[in-house]
Amino acid sequence: MSDARDAAPAVAGPRLLTGSPIAAEIRAGLTEDFAAFKERWGRAPTLAIVLVGADAPSAVYLQQILRTCAKVGVEGRLVEIGAEVTPDAVCEEIERLNADPEVAGIIVQMPLPAHIPLRTVIDSIDPAKDIDGIHPRNAGLLSLGYDGFLPATAQASVEILKRSGIEIAGKRVVVIGRSNVVGKPAALLLMREHGTVTVLHSKTRDLGHHTRDAEILIVAAGRPGLVTGEMLSPGVVVVDVGINVVPDGQGGEKLVGDVDFESARDVVGAITPVPGGVGPLTNALLLSHLLRAATDQAERAARQTAAEVAK
Ligand code: NAD
Repeated sequence: MSDARDAAPAVAGPRLLTGSPIAAEIRAGLTEDFAAFKERWGRAPTLAIVLVGADAPSAVYLQQILRTCAKVGVEGRLVEIGAEVTPDAVCEEIERLNADPEVAGIIVQMPLPAHIPLRTVIDSIDPAKDIDGIHPRNAGLLSLGYDGFLPATAQASVEILKRSGIEIAGKRVVVIGRSNVVGKPAALLLMREHGTVTVLHSKTRDLGHHTRDAEILIVAAGRPGLVTGEMLSPGVVVVDVGINVVPDGQGGEKLVGDVDFESARDVVGAITPVPGGVGPLTNALLLSHLLRAATDQAERAARQTAAEVAK
């Protein structure tokens, strides 16, 4: 008869907040919704992805998003522009996509070549097609708490908490990173969820002083190993948004987040793995924005046609 004392000790580990099952659930709903869209409007909406200058990490991401488009019934259109292009020519290409009724959403792959001003490109996207929420209009709507398109990664970092049943209201939430695409919008969304939010950045003194106070910690700095176990309080919930390619010690490469998983795992209450945490959720949310954009545009066009017929 076995004795409980003979049993192998249970390997206690943190709760892993995985994004893939949540993303699969969202995609399943989207597949139905895009089929209904096609039935109603006679075509699948198109997502245009603008890539200026070939870039290897972008290529991997782009294949992933194009595969997700195909899975849910969206036309993915890759618009490749050579790196030698002028800023005006990039904007003209975006304006063509703005005017194309088949294109419901536009995303521009970052980073852009150094001679292309980011601001000029962002400003040229029609806010109604800006499904990753980078246009100043959508960023402004977010900061005022109104409905616009949200930056998908920032939204994913909050959504993974909500869909994992983690209460945000009233919690001390610390965000590392203040970029316009991740840290800043994540902080605004967490405030919207009634978190008590502190934002840390590259000029913050004594990161650990602040991170040890966190009940929820969102890390989006792009610095592998930035957060170690001794910077965390027991039971903290950690969302690691970082995606970094580092040597795997065997001559190859691997993906890691910004949190040193090995030292953090025995301290945290829950943590998102990298890969497999926030990443999978980001694309699914982006396509849910595309559905909304496509529906709004198709309905607006139908209203305009009806108004013209009634004239
Ligand atoms: P960014 O370089 O634009 O911004 C990084 C931010 O981190 C800055 O605000 C900077 O002040 C802060 N920072 C940098 N070093 C720091 C330090 N030592 N201490 C404190 N703060 C520091 O990067 P980003 O576009 O916001 O992306 C952040 C990370 O998220 C990257 O690893 C990126 O690859 C990843 N990312 C993931 C997804 C996803 O789907 N999971 C999507 C986009 C970006």
